[in-house]
Amino acid sequence: MTESAITDALGRQLHDLRVSVTDRCNFRCVYCMPKEVFGRGYQFLAKKELLTFEEIERLVQIFATLGVRKIRLTGGEPLVRSELENLIERIASIDLITDISLTTNAVLLSEKRARSLRDAGLKRVNISLDALDDETFKAINDVGVPVQKVLDGIDAAAGAGFDSVKVNMVVKRGMNESSIVPMARYFHGTGNILRFIEFMDVGNTNAWHDGAVVTAQEIVDQINAELPLEPIGANYQGEVAKRWKYNDGGGEIGVISSVSKPFCGDCSRTRLSAVGKLYTCLFAADGFDLMSIVRSGADNHEIEQKLRAIWKRRRDRYSEIRTVESVLLPKVEMSHIGG
Ligand code: SAM
Ligand code: SF4
Ligand code: SF4
Repeated sequence: MTESAITDALGRQLHDLRVSVTDRCNFRCVYCMPKEVFGRGYQFLAKKELLTFEEIERLVQIFATLGVRKIRLTGGEPLVRSELENLIERIASIDLITDISLTTNAVLLSEKRARSLRDAGLKRVNISLDALDDETFKAINDVGVPVQKVLDGIDAAAGAGFDSVKVNMVVKRGMNESSIVPMARYFHGTGNILRFIEFMDVGNTNAWHDGAVVTAQEIVDQINAELPLEPIGANYQGEVAKRWKYNDGGGEIGVISSVSKPFCGDCSRTRLSAVGKLYTCLFAADGFDLMSIVRSGADNHEIEQKLRAIWKRRRDRYSEIRTVESVLLPKVEMSHIGG
């Protein structure tokens, strides 16, 4: 632990910061930004409402003094924010930050873009892909983007020399559970680690119900029946994905059981929304308005004291105490704070 690292009310250290750089997206995934809500009339944020890159850099510097080492850029779709490389360069120049990663749908990830992101200092990329057949995938992204577009993005990332390229698949019953095994087969042996994510009740617009959750156990059972698996240990404490390796040496997969086996006990993550609100849990109703503090002229010491106070009183453990009632409580939307 660094001298100034802090722990919350449940003894959890602050280590990861996820930064949402935009609320906009070129997809309308049915489980994240359904068109009925995020349609033509939807009012997205204006540029001046977003944290600037200078403001994000400053906040990351302060977070780093409190123990944050890993930064993940997310959204909305982070690659629609112009000059993202500039932000990455700024964050990469902060000494204490050891890891910068990006979660993207990869539509804008050409070979050239992948190289420029890597040159700016991006270390790892997670690409979201929920099916391998166009019919299912287009029904999910709801804007007609074909699978090949994302596969090209994955190849571009793999060719750019990142430390890791992972593929994230959200599994929802009735949507894409028949794609589990085809996805496992496709990425088996490629070196790109496929991670399955249980459908979560983030926000209030995705019509979540527990019957739509395909559990981690079901996912592992389906794959294991075709491509035998065995469990392997975590890479580090607090890793959210449980790791499994193929018995035939074809690499590994990860399974994120946020609903069926929550991992709040190790949760070291906090999230900064595009408008500069700080959320200490993915399922929080509201966040702490850091943008106002930053724009009111507060100095770094004042901001640091605020952050310390927020983290110290943190008691979030939503997934461990989820109930039928809590699912209906107001919660921030995924497109505002990222996954
Ligand atoms: N647009 C980028 C993308 O899709 O990769 C980054 C933002 S997206 C909100 C981050 C991750 O959250 C994606 O992997 C997405 O599939 C996942 N996600 C979104 N809504 C979800 C939900 N309700 N349950 C589980 N994962 C979800
Ligand atoms: Fe956009 Fe990512 Fe949400 Fe899909 S999951 S709508 S790509 S932000
Ligand atoms: Fe962390 Fe909240 Fe998720 Fe629990 S529910 S793991 S506290 S983000």
